[in-house]
Order: sequence, then structure tokens, then C-alpha cells
Amino acid sequence: MARYYQQDIECASREQIKALQDERLVKQVKHVYDNVPYYRNLMDEKGVKPEDIKSTDDLHKLPFITKADLREAYPTGMLAVPMKDCVEIHSTSGTTGKRVVAFYTQKDLDIWHECCARAIMAVGGDENDVVQVAYGYGLFTGGAGLDGGAHKVGCLTLPMSSGNTDRQIQFMKDLEATILCCTPSYAAYLGESLHEMGLTPDDIKLKAGIFGAEPWTEEMRRSIEKSLGIKAYDIYGLTETSGPGVAYECTAQAGMHINEDHFIAEIIDPDTGEVLPEGSKGELVFTSITKEAFPLLRYRTRDICVLSREKCPCGRTHVKMTKPMGRSDDMMIIRGVNVFPSQIETVLLEQGYTPNYRIEVDRVNNNDTLDVFVELSNEMFSDTVKEIAIKEKELASAIKTMLGISPKVHLVPAKSITRSEGKAVRVIDKRKLHD
Ligand code: ADP
Ligand code: ZN
Repeated sequence: MARYYQQDIECASREQIKALQDERLVKQVKHVYDNVPYYRNLMDEKGVKPEDIKSTDDLHKLPFITKADLREAYPTGMLAVPMKDCVEIHSTSGTTGKRVVAFYTQKDLDIWHECCARAIMAVGGDENDVVQVAYGYGLFTGGAGLDGGAHKVGCLTLPMSSGNTDRQIQFMKDLEATILCCTPSYAAYLGESLHEMGLTPDDIKLKAGIFGAEPWTEEMRRSIEKSLGIKAYDIYGLTETSGPGVAYECTAQAGMHINEDHFIAEIIDPDTGEVLPEGSKGELVFTSITKEAFPLLRYRTRDICVLSREKCPCGRTHVKMTKPMGRSDDMMIIRGVNVFPSQIETVLLEQGYTPNYRIEVDRVNNNDTLDVFVELSNEMFSDTVKEIAIKEKELASAIKTMLGISPKVHLVPAKSITRSEGKAVRVIDKRKLHD
């Protein structure tokens, strides 16, 4: 039976949600216009006044906010309340440049934690669960968000933070953790370590994992589920909109419900900024309608996905987003072809390799090169040089079928690729060094 943290709102009718969004949006636009000079200027430049926004149907009239705006407004230019009313900050992991600082009032924290509590209950969690939070704590939002959510549900929370892998496994076993929260790449590493310590999923009590903060494939999901003996669920969020819990998967494992009472989602064409009809693939844009301290309107996430309102068997009515398979700026253009790292991950796992890989892109004599380093599996360890060369060719050809361009594949010894405890860094684009 499906479980909910706030059933009334999680299962509200479309009309109820729309009415709530309309009311909250109107209030939020006024709050931002009155208190954030940076955004007021953007609105003035576009000739939009708060009175022009009467419902979500007018959302498209508002200007976008981009990461560049946030960097320009660093550190307090987007703050909408006096600093003394804030109780916490978090900051992006800085994957793509200068950090962004987000502020929270106590009410902002409560709502964020409630969103994470919904995620925990959506995977079957309740107050009897022991939640091991192995996302990083500190400035990163992962640890704080799921920790707060676990407290709201009433779970025993193990605030492990990331790293110290042997201790993670020991506590997982000795304290009988039932739900694991961390990045998918760290979950894969924990699964690998469990087996190396001579344990199997039968030795632990884990039943579910809530994994996010980086792109991961369906193949990766299955591989983690097998190695840890659990069901693996996706969770999505970004520092700019509070952190994880903006959207979360239910037991249907088919897309993430967006918490629509707090966020309005739009899909736009990343090149023209035009709003696309529901069901189209494009860039996800969020408007926070309940945030007090850091209320971003029409924030461009650069994450590419599709929204769907198909009825979900879990009973929740909130719109679902597909797994973002990389940001628009994760995409590499290699020899004129668009390549997402996730496509390569899919092929590797399908072909029976581990999710330990590194992609190197370079430019030699004006030609782009693509090198994929993949670890040999234990079974292949005793293969001869000739056998390995054949496997490298086979894998290169499978990747070529997926991407349309040929990589050079290097099978490297097991354990030679650095494991990730947080967000994995899998691509090294050396072309940027020459530019
Ligand atoms: P940074 O931008 O520095 O990485 P964040 O730590 O806030 O800052 O990361 C947010 C980004 O992480 C999202 O915009 C998205 O690209 C990625 N992300 C978060 N959750 C997921 C997920 N479940 N699947 C894929 N990507 C995700
Ligand atoms: Zn659902």
C-alpha cells in the first residue's frame, strides 16, 4: 500500500494544485519584486509588473534567471529577506564554476525537509526505518536535506556523511540501516565494498536507496539494486531551489513527482527560451512559490528532461519528470556529434562492465579524440593480451553503434579508476585546456 507524508496535497486534484499555484505565484512575484532589486530590474527591463501576473497562465511573461545571474548577484543579490531572518546557507558543489550561495529561513528549511520526508515515505519508509545518510554534510545540500527529511518521518538517522567506506558498511550492518541515501556512484562503490568485505546483501537489512545529485542510468540502477539487494530510487534537486526533494520517485520507479505545491515546472527550448508543450523534451525551468529567503522565479536549470501527467499507480497527482540524463552543458560535441556520458555508461553496463570508467576527450591535429577507460572485470583478469584486445574492439564497436562515432577503448586493471564518494567526475575534456 502506498504511503504518504502529506497525502492531501500529494494526491490533490489537478484543479486544487492549479488554484494553489495561482495564489502562491501571485504572492511570490510581489514578494520578489518588492525585495529583490536584481530581479525587479529584470522585470522592469522586460516591462512586466507584478499586477500582470494573475495566475500560472501568465508565468511565461516573467524573465528567466540563469546561473550567470546568480553568479553576478553573489553573494546576497537574490536574497529576499533581511539576512538576520535566515538560519542557514548552502552552496552548490561548484561542478561548473563559481559557487552559488542559497539562503534559508526556518520556514524554508521546514518545507525542504517535508519534501524530503515525502521522498522517504514514497519509497515505503516510516518511523521504523533506519536511514543512513551518506551524502556529504556541510555546505552541500544532500546530507542536510535527507537528514531533515528522515527526522520529520521519525526515522533513526545515521548522519554518516560521505566517505570512510569501511565504517559505512560496518554501521549499515551493525545498526541495521534499512534506507541508504547517497549519490548513485557512491552507492555503487558501497555495493562493491560490501562484497569485498566478504558480505552479501543477506548480511544487511537495507531495503531501499534514495540516490541522486548526479545523472545515472537505468543500467546503473539495476546494477546497484543487485549488489546491495535493494530497490533503488531517484531523487532530484538543486541548491538553487533548496536541494534534493524538488522531485522524487515513488515505488512505480517511473519518473519523479515534482512537489508542485512548492515548485512550478516548465519545459523550454534551451535555444529560444520558448515554452514547449507538455510531453516535449527540453530544459527544465523552476519557479519557487513558497521560498522566503531565496525565491527564484523561472530559474533555468540546464537539465534536460520530459514532463508527464500520466496517471501514476501510487496515487500521487503531481507531475512527473524523467531522469535528467545530463545537463545541457554536460553534453560534449565530439566530431560534430552530441554525446552524453550517460550513453557511454549505458553501453558499458549492458556489456557487463562495472560503472567504473573515465572518458577523455582531446583534440589532436584538429581532430577530436575520444578515449574511454574501463576497468576489466575480475573474470577477465586472467585473459591474455590478445583476448583483451578483442574485448576492447568489441566494446568500441558497441559504443560506436550508440554514439555514431568511434572511441578508443582501454581496458585497465580493476581498481585503477578512482571511486567516487560524492558526485563522480567521469569526463576530462582536455580540449578546454587548449582553448
Ligand atoms: P552544482 O550545480 O554545483 O552541481 P548542485 O549540487 O546543486 O550544484 O547540483 C544540482 C544538479 O545536480 C542538478 O541541476 C542536476 O544537473 C544534477 N542532479 C541532481 N539530482 C539529479 C538526479 N537525480 N539525476 C540527474 N541529475 C541530477
Ligand atoms: Zn507515483
